[in-house]
Amino acid sequence: MDYRTYFKNYPDRDGRFGPYGGAILPEALRPAFEEITKAYQAICHSAQFINELRRIRREFQGRPTPVYHCDRLSRKLGECQIYLKREDLNHTGAHKLNHCMGEGLLAKFMGKKRLIAETGAGQHGVALATAAAYFGLECEIHMGEVDIAKQAPNVTRMKILGARVVPVTHGLKTLKEAVDSAFESYLRSYQDSIYCIGSVVGPYPFPLMVRDFQMCVGVEAREQFLEMTGILPDAVCACVGGGSNSAGMFSGFLADPVDIYGVEPLGIGSGVGQHAASMTFGKLGALHGFESYLLQEKDGQPSPVYSIASGLDYPSVGPEHALWHDLGRVKYVTATDEEAVDAFFKLSRYEGIIPALESAHAVAYAMKLAKQMETGAILVCCSGRGDKDVDYVAEHYGYGENYRFPEE
Ligand SMILES: *Cc1c(COP(=O)(O)O)cnc(C)c1O
Repeated sequence: MDYRTYFKNYPDRDGRFGPYGGAILPEALRPAFEEITKAYQAICHSAQFINELRRIRREFQGRPTPVYHCDRLSRKLGECQIYLKREDLNHTGAHKLNHCMGEGLLAKFMGKKRLIAETGAGQHGVALATAAAYFGLECEIHMGEVDIAKQAPNVTRMKILGARVVPVTHGLKTLKEAVDSAFESYLRSYQDSIYCIGSVVGPYPFPLMVRDFQMCVGVEAREQFLEMTGILPDAVCACVGGGSNSAGMFSGFLADPVDIYGVEPLGIGSGVGQHAASMTFGKLGALHGFESYLLQEKDGQPSPVYSIASGLDYPSVGPEHALWHDLGRVKYVTATDEEAVDAFFKLSRYEGIIPALESAHAVAYAMKLAKQMETGAILVCCSGRGDKDVDYVAEHYGYGENYRFPEE
C-alpha cells in the first residue's frame, strides 16, 4: 500500500473503506444523505469554506492547540520521551468541537436551520450545542432518560447553550434508542435540518467528513513535533471509541515511518459486557448504517459494552479503522479501567494535566510502550480534559495516593 495516494483511493465512490463502511439507510433517508454528500463534496474543495473554518479554529476554538513534552512523567519511566497533543485545550475541553464546527458550517452552507443529533454521555451534545449557538442555528439533542439522569451537568450545559433536549423514554432509554429517535425526527424534518454524527461512524459521508474535520489534530501535531525536535516521533497513539480523535491524529502520520497505536477500552475484563474493545473482540457486522467490526450476539444484535470512560463504550468502530487494522497500518491494543485510572492520576500529579478518562487510556498505553521502547519518542493525543471525571474518580479511587511512582 502506498500511503501517499491513500486519501485518493479511500473511501471509494460507494463510501467504502475496503469491505467496511457504506451507507445502509432506509429508502426514505437516502435523498437526505445524498444531499449531505453532494454539499460536502462541493465545500471540501472550496477555498472560502476552508478559510472560514480556519478562521473559526483560530479565533473561536483557540487552535492550534500545543504539543507538550511530558518531561517529568517521561523521566519516571526511563529514556523514552512522551509528548501530548493537547486537545484538552481546545474550546469546550475536547476534540469533539473540531467536527461539530465543521458540521455547523456545512449546515449554514446548505441553508439548514436546525442541527439534530443523539448523545450518550452528553459530550457530543454539548459540543454540537456550542456550534449551534455560534452559528445561530437551532439544536435538537435526543438523549435517553437514563442518560439524562446520569449526566445532569451536560444536560444543563446543553440547555444553557440554547439546545432542546428531547428525552427518549422507550426501550432501555439509552444511546441506542436515542439514535432511533434522532433518526425519526430527522426523517420528518430533513428539508430544513441536518443530522450531525459525533464520530467517524454512521452512513457515508460521515466517516469521511468527520475524519477530514479532525485531521487538523494530526496535521498540526506533525508540524509542531517536527519544529520542536527536528524529527518525527517513533510512535503515535490515541484512544479509540468511535474513532474520531484517533482518525484525525493518525491521518497526519499515515505516510510516515511512524508506528501507530489505537487504544481500545478493556474495562474490567474480556467477557461480554466487561469491555468495549470492538476491534480486539468483534467481527464484521452492521450497526447505525455502516459495516465494521462489531461486538455482537449470535443474532447480529450489538452486545452490551462497558468502559469506565463513557465516551469509549461503543460496540463498533469507524470503518476506516477497520481497514487500517486489516492493512496492518495501525495496531489496535487495549488498556483496562485500572490502567487508565493509574495514568489519570500520574498525568495529573507529575505534569499538572488532568486528562479525560478516555484520553487516559492512550496515556496508559504510551506509558507501557515507553518502558518497552526504552528510547525514542511517543506522541499521544490527549483528546480531552478530565474535569467531567474528577468527582467519579475521587469517589471510587480517592485522590490517587496508591497511584504514585516510588520516590527516589
Ligand atoms: C467522545 C470522546 C472520545 C471518544 O470518541 P472518538 O470518536 O473515539 O474520538 C475520546 N475522548 C474524549 C475526551 C471524548 O469526549
